[in-house]
Amino acid sequence: MTDSESDLLARVPTQLFIDGQWTDAADARTFAVRDPATGAVIREIADASPADGLRALDAAVAAQEAWAATAPRERSDILRRAFDLVRAHAEDLALLMTLEMGKPLAEARGEVAYGGEFLRWFSEEAVRVAGRYGSNPEGTGRVVVSQRPVGPCFFITPWNFPLAMATRKIAPALAAGCTVVIKPAELTPLTTLFFTQLLVEAGVPAGVVNVVTTTSSGDVSAPIIADPRLRKLSFTGSTPVGRKLMAQAAEGVLRVSMELGGNAPFVVFDDADLDKAVDGAMLAKFRNIGQACTAANRFIVHEAVASEFSRRVSERVAAMTIGRGTEDGVQIGPLIDDRAVAKAGELVADAVERGARVVTGGHAVEGEGTFYEPTVVEGVTAGSAILREEIFGPVLAISTFSDEDEAVRLANDTEYGLVSYVFTQDLARGHRMIDRLETGMMGLNVGVVSNAAAPFGGVKQSGVGREGGLEGIHEYLSVKYTLIPN
Ligand code: NAD
Repeated sequence: MTDSESDLLARVPTQLFIDGQWTDAADARTFAVRDPATGAVIREIADASPADGLRALDAAVAAQEAWAATAPRERSDILRRAFDLVRAHAEDLALLMTLEMGKPLAEARGEVAYGGEFLRWFSEEAVRVAGRYGSNPEGTGRVVVSQRPVGPCFFITPWNFPLAMATRKIAPALAAGCTVVIKPAELTPLTTLFFTQLLVEAGVPAGVVNVVTTTSSGDVSAPIIADPRLRKLSFTGSTPVGRKLMAQAAEGVLRVSMELGGNAPFVVFDDADLDKAVDGAMLAKFRNIGQACTAANRFIVHEAVASEFSRRVSERVAAMTIGRGTEDGVQIGPLIDDRAVAKAGELVADAVERGARVVTGGHAVEGEGTFYEPTVVEGVTAGSAILREEIFGPVLAISTFSDEDEAVRLANDTEYGLVSYVFTQDLARGHRMIDRLETGMMGLNVGVVSNAAAPFGGVKQSGVGREGGLEGIHEYLSVKYTLIPN
């Protein structure tokens, strides 16, 4: 580890943040955070118990009324300062994400820029929450519709985008006037802890944002979700955990947002600009080492261009540089853990057993860290597990189709519906695909769609609710209607 890495890690808080205070877990337990590129422990931090979680909720509940009563402009100014602070600390945040999660530094910088934009966007939205005033149809009274903050929120975030998944929830909640308890993933808690310091510096009052880090996610979360004082649960993570949390939330008819798994189709028609399709494929597949809910999972390519697409993409993939994300020029960092490496290997083996061919890659990398080679498999056949499951690794799997109806059928043949990518130069076909694909988001001739100004979210088992865009703040507002007779 370099001196600047040690210096940064020494500046990361190691305690829980409750009611404006950094505090140890009640029973003083701690846990280790590791660098997946080396397996080395990089920090020991507080391991919250269920009692700590409820203390954090107490603080959020106590702060709710005063926070909701602040002027929207004040909340907006705080978020704007937080945005400026994220920009000022961009290098620290980026390096921290690379150290705890493994992504190449250049991509971590990209995440800081993307994650920071939610603070700016919602600082702008905080002052634009509108209501309605009008006559009822009978002409006997006035209808007044206003928007109120839903109240204290609980956030559970995943490890793959440690900063952006936090800002995408915290920014709209604070803008709307809600207080927050956040539980980051145990694999990557440091970024949230560092970011919390910036929120404090930006002026977020005590109790408005509380952070609990823990290895007992289920035990700490369940009592918070069951508490009638909680008004909203927002979760980003896998569909199986989301399903479990929705069931818990149903007990109290708790409002939920669920940003869950994906199985994105990447459809390349025979009229596509293949250069653009290959560029899009590299981004859609290998960004974040394939560990994105929006990662292209199934490359569905017209049979007339499939071998050319496979050849061009494989050439690029074979030339990718693997290594620790801090090293110059690295494009493929480590996967998050051993299980992720094993899963990539199993999915490739299953595809090959069912008739697919490995064009490049196809092995775990020997030595320290949890690396898997960037891989292309072509000729993937129906029934292969790789077409059903999230790969969450750097494996590009190609199958073919012969006409538009078949492409649509294959693309929609999944329980997920987060994002789809379509490459065609036929405008009318592009519009038909927008209508026909069962998806919350679509990239037409582009391999990345995420943007703070756009509604992010899925249909089917990819979740409920939207983050970002004009829609994002409404996840944290409830509509109140008042009738005033004439
Ligand atoms: P995960 O579901 O294993 O964990 C997500 C979070 O839930 C973590 O904080 C974890 O500690 C916590 N958790 C796990 N079990 C829990 C329980 N029983 N009760 C309460 N909390 C619990 O997911 P992951 O491996 O961290 O992240 C990868 C998954 O997230 C993928 O499926 C990916 O597609 C999805 N994801 C979705 C989006 C989106 O916006 N749709 C974004 C990023 C990641």
